[in-house]
Amino acid sequence: MGIVKCKVHGETGIKPFIDRKIIDMVVLNYQGLLLEKNIEKKIFLVTEQCIFDETESFNINYYIAEMTMRKNKLKQLYIISSDEEEDEFHKIIPQTSGTCGKCFEEYIEKYNIEIIKEW
Ligand SMILES: [Zn+2]
Repeated sequence: MGIVKCKVHGETGIKPFIDRKIIDMVVLNYQGLLLEKNIEKKIFLVTEQCIFDETESFNINYYIAEMTMRKNKLKQLYIISSDEEEDEFHKIIPQTSGTCGKCFEEYIEKYNIEIIKEW
């Protein structure tokens, strides 16, 4: 896990693979500019399971905005075992980035946002 320098929390752990739409909300929240009507109450966890051979595999969890979920019709789990599958996956998964883990947690708690792991 990398380190990020947050304006609010200083040097802190980074939370990676978050939909840019959610990061925009997190930033507006700590700037005090977030409007209640713009808050999505659900964040979806999409898992990319990369299997390159029988011995090596890892998971990446993406935090995806509700709006993106509906638009891209994403599934809960994608199993990737070839470059072609990887390319296809990156066509439908939105642009993601990292943000301060504490800012992210505060945003989730403040607005009582549900993280959906199964749908
Ligand atoms: Zn922060």
